[in-house]
Amino acid sequence: MTGTAARIRKVVVLGGGTAGWMAAAYLGKALQGTVDVTVLAAPARPRACTGEATVPHLHRAFFDFLGINEDEWMRECDASFRTATRFVNWRTEGASEAAARALPAGGPDHFYQPFGLLADYDRIPLSQYWVKRNHDGGAREPFDYACFREPPLMDALKSPRRLDGRAATRYAWHLDAGLVADFLRRFAVGKLAVTHVEDEMTGVDRDGRGHVSALRTASGRVLEADLFVDCSGSRGLLLDRALGEPFLDMSDQLPCDSVVATTVPHDDAAHGVEPYTSALAMSAGWTWKTPLSGRFGTGYVYSSRFTTPQEATAELCDLWGLDPSTTRFEHSRHRVGRTERAWVRNVVGIGRSAGYLEPLESTGIHFVTAALHLLVKHFPDRTFNPALVDVFNREVAVMFDDARDLTQTHYHCTPRDDTPFWRATGELPLTSGVRERIAAYRAGLPVGSPHTDESTYYGDFEAEIRNLGSNGSYYCLLTGLGLLPDAPLPALAHRPESVAGAEPLFQAIKRQQQNLLETLPSAYDCLRRLHGA
Ligand code: FAD
Repeated sequence: MTGTAARIRKVVVLGGGTAGWMAAAYLGKALQGTVDVTVLAAPARPRACTGEATVPHLHRAFFDFLGINEDEWMRECDASFRTATRFVNWRTEGASEAAARALPAGGPDHFYQPFGLLADYDRIPLSQYWVKRNHDGGAREPFDYACFREPPLMDALKSPRRLDGRAATRYAWHLDAGLVADFLRRFAVGKLAVTHVEDEMTGVDRDGRGHVSALRTASGRVLEADLFVDCSGSRGLLLDRALGEPFLDMSDQLPCDSVVATTVPHDDAAHGVEPYTSALAMSAGWTWKTPLSGRFGTGYVYSSRFTTPQEATAELCDLWGLDPSTTRFEHSRHRVGRTERAWVRNVVGIGRSAGYLEPLESTGIHFVTAALHLLVKHFPDRTFNPALVDVFNREVAVMFDDARDLTQTHYHCTPRDDTPFWRATGELPLTSGVRERIAAYRAGLPVGSPHTDESTYYGDFEAEIRNLGSNGSYYCLLTGLGLLPDAPLPALAHRPESVAGAEPLFQAIKRQQQNLLETLPSAYDCLRRLHGA
């Protein structure tokens, strides 16, 4: 079987959550009508909190690819802007609170991880010059404020976009995940001829090779296909249950396995809209805050070893002043880790069926987008050439493990030890990636994913999908947690011209911050214009 005779003719996507409808729309578009795409999904259950945070390439790599402009999908998904994550109270001891406490040495206990790109000079990232300045006593400004344009803009609740739609800085979005799935369903079915079967999968047929040949449903349908995309969520009905792919449990490396989430009303006109996601340290984990129009999504991500669902709910209520008797909460428990392979035989797992990482680095939708890009790039025929499958699996595993390492670095490097949870995070067994990065950082070297090439991520999507663990992210995180390198990059002692040449970059950032502060609209005004009053 070769050439067109072997080509894939039918794809069935199992699951109609974010991953399922993103997969259907992306494959429908990418395969240009050459393949029948069907989505089999049980009817959706309404969720108590659907506010989710995304990363910048969602737009370029996904919605641009679908040909849907930013204003349109932002309106459909009730989206708001996200210029950074703001980490609050990860250094100081105390009860959970949304406001940043004061650090013992002065200044607030918060730091930003912006999406803006870190400049470099003479092929050395600005972070290394900042460390040298700091070490030589020449600069005391925190790394994020000294090296990025965005932090003062976020303090002032400024929009990253001008009123005419031009971007002033690099940004991502908060969106209503329920609306995203619904919008993409309408788009995929209406514009890309994707078939939607609303039914429950009850059985799986396999052929002689062990491949899945058809899915059986509660109402008696039999859906045959050449390729199956498992978007059935954490139950992993095809990858895990039907094919028995081993799950790599990472719960010893990351402590949080549970979430209590809700939505909180917010008076945007009175208080403005925060153009960032907040990650607030709690007694046994952390809480996200993702602003949407007139409300924000929030969820306490905690470790069930250190608190109960009832205690976690009470702590979340105290944080936001919620009445537990009138607020609807959603509780969930998660298996932390990934399947050994995301693509097995003719089944590709995308979304939570292939792995789950707590949303500290907002990786859920990022993984879905990246996996779809990789699937299309390595799209098989019915021979399922193992070379395609192996490259895909390697890339997905690296991406997941890099994000896990970045997440583990948060816990390992926080100096907090005021609760049993924070004491336990200091004893997590470190992955080799975390150990190596921290050693390199202490020695003054740039750090990041070994798979991130800082010099190429401006242009190349594949480098950009790995930008999560870039040098800039690690420096924001590690300096923000109060951990400084032992010494500047030793090579800088031999590059006085580079050190002098980098100095004007710091002044240029200050000028740009001031200019943007004076010219950008508030996030509230920009969103009001976009969504209507
Ligand atoms: P699900 O949403 O669980 O969807 C599974 C689908 O499969 C459902 O439609 C279900 O009906 C269907 N299904 C299951 N069994 C059957 C069956 N037998 N027959 C038919 N259909 C079936 N990501 C981010 O990028 N940013 C965030 O801020 C963020 N926050 C998160 C917060 C929490 C608490 C959680 C749990 C995740 C978060 N994520 C976030 C991750 C993100 O929500 C998910 O990765 C993403 O939505 C993909 O989910 P999914 O579609 O794989 O699974």
